[in-house]
Amino acid sequence: MSLTYWAQYAWLPHVNGPVVERDVLVSTVHGGRIGKVTPDAGPCPPGAVRLEGLLVPGQANAHSHAFHRALRGTVQVGSGTFWTWRDTMYRVACALDPDSYLALATAVYAEMALAGITAVGEFHYLHHAPGGARYADPNAMGEALIEAAARAGIRITLLDTCYLASGFGTGPTRPQLRFSDGDADAWAARAADLKPREHARIGAAVHSVRAVPADQLGTVAHWSAMRRAPLHVHLSEQTAENDACLTAHGVTPTRLLADHGVLGPRTSAVHATHLTEEDIRLLSDSSTTICMCPTTERDLADGIGPARQLASAGCPVTLGSDSHAVIDPFEEARALELNERLRTRTRGHWTANALLRAGSEHGHASLGWPEAGRIEAGALADFTVLALDSVRTAGPPARLGAETAVFAASAADVRHVVVGGRQIVRDGVHQLVADVPSALRDSIAAALAS
Ligand SMILES: [Zn+2]
Repeated sequence: MSLTYWAQYAWLPHVNGPVVERDVLVSTVHGGRIGKVTPDAGPCPPGAVRLEGLLVPGQANAHSHAFHRALRGTVQVGSGTFWTWRDTMYRVACALDPDSYLALATAVYAEMALAGITAVGEFHYLHHAPGGARYADPNAMGEALIEAAARAGIRITLLDTCYLASGFGTGPTRPQLRFSDGDADAWAARAADLKPREHARIGAAVHSVRAVPADQLGTVAHWSAMRRAPLHVHLSEQTAENDACLTAHGVTPTRLLADHGVLGPRTSAVHATHLTEEDIRLLSDSSTTICMCPTTERDLADGIGPARQLASAGCPVTLGSDSHAVIDPFEEARALELNERLRTRTRGHWTANALLRAGSEHGHASLGWPEAGRIEAGALADFTVLALDSVRTAGPPARLGAETAVFAASAADVRHVVVGGRQIVRDGVHQLVADVPSALRDSIAAALAS
């Protein structure tokens, strides 16, 4: 398949920083890559696919737990903390099997596609049957997620997650038996059987320093190093984790990860909300990526992490929708800047260009797709087109397309999505999943009923 697309406007890399160009031809070549990008190409030529609006790179959702989507709305009643929210989340986790998870994840990934997301990092720990029994294929749940991404037309990095304990020195609780392989060696053996596909790559994750005993962290780090695979880890989302880690080991979670070889340029630390100055230095010195999930962090009352300080120290920053309180990459991007404004009472910590790069180029790199996230020859032909004529986006000059996308647009403004040269969303309609709202409603009802 080698189509040529014509975009009314496109956000393109430039030596002096990204710029918005008009009348841009993007040719795709066999294998789903971009052949050539030609700005100022004049009107849409015959045979090209016309894309009205602003073309930007496909967005990478660097941190997802697909099944959390079933909690939307349900967990907004009453009060509580992260920990009471987690009890509700575990009830949904207990209900899913490979078939029902395939249906739910297909619908969730289709929602992501409609929001302009072309690659997802699925932080996957729901490995086994309730009570911990192994499925006939011990990777049946992970395979369901890989298949779900194929059905929704997006790329996936399955971050197979090692999750062994409920806390420092304590075994898994009953809901967590589904998550545990027993020890890190058994996790490594099972995860080794997962194979990449054209649309899927395999990475590793340490759930957290709470969930993997310190003497087994190195096993996971080694597994990912041998494969040069991404390695993700939840880090210091809650002060309780920091306190428990200090009590158990006398060091912060960041220091514990550093001491066991978990940090580095292939690693993403997710949340990184409550850090010390030394933690920030360890993360930046190791070139660790930071994945912020602002809509989840505010939903769960976590706090505001030092994203700006980490980025200034040299850490690439990415974005994830995590618990899917909402799925909107533009909302995640602007929240990074707006959180800083609230905290500092000054404006202008992140440019719109920097925030778009976080969601595209940095996000893809953190998921092991360094050849995606940019509109340039040779890159994967993954892109998203935003309407510039909706009630939210009409008015600003086109040269401010990045500012409009980040600070005014929403997922509802995504008009077209192309993955690997193939159009999977056309005029706001998913081309592979016929009725995404019904697919979400039915699969969530099934998950909550059982
Ligand atoms: Zn998470």
